[in-house]
Amino acid sequence: GYMESVNVNEVINDCLVLTRHNLDHRNITLERHLDAESRVEINRGELQQVLINLIVNATQAMPDGGRLSLLSADWTEPAQGTGVRITVRDSGQGIAPQDLERIFDPFFTTKKGKGTGLGLSISRTLIQRYGGRISAASLPGEGAEFILWLRCTPEFE
Ligand code: ADP
Ligand code: MG
Repeated sequence: GYMESVNVNEVINDCLVLTRHNLDHRNITLERHLDAESRVEINRGELQQVLINLIVNATQAMPDGGRLSLLSADWTEPAQGTGVRITVRDSGQGIAPQDLERIFDPFFTTKKGKGTGLGLSISRTLIQRYGGRISAASLPGEGAEFILWLRCTPEFE
């Protein structure tokens, strides 16, 4: 999609409205620290698609409830410049170390018969198209964390 100057906090809040039923049904507590002040260069609908993927994955990792955290902050990446960092963190089962480098591969899923394994692969492609980055970290038993870094709109640099 076309690039626009986007307020990530608005997009995060829209995504939480759209996934609200998921959180309520599963007894998931929401924590939000939306501190980013810069705007980013991206297509708003595509960012929404990526964040919904991450939120749905997080809720699926917490079938018995837990905590979902969404954080945003202005963040300078040494090699890439000024941008915004978005963190989606859950308290689910986490990701096994041997899976961590495969979860962004197309068709990789651990949801037998229920997952397409395409969500993260498509998300990474979309984000990279705008010069951004997406990475995962996990402490098995403590949960998973996905970090997005998005390039600033030039006037916010
Ligand atoms: P799908 O959700 O269809 O399986 P994704 O590309 O969205 O495909 O995710 C790929 C895999 O990454 C999942 O099957 C799961 O093993 C792992 N994964 C993604 N998000 C999380 C998370 N929040 N917690 C634990 N595992 C996750
Ligand atoms: Mg998924």
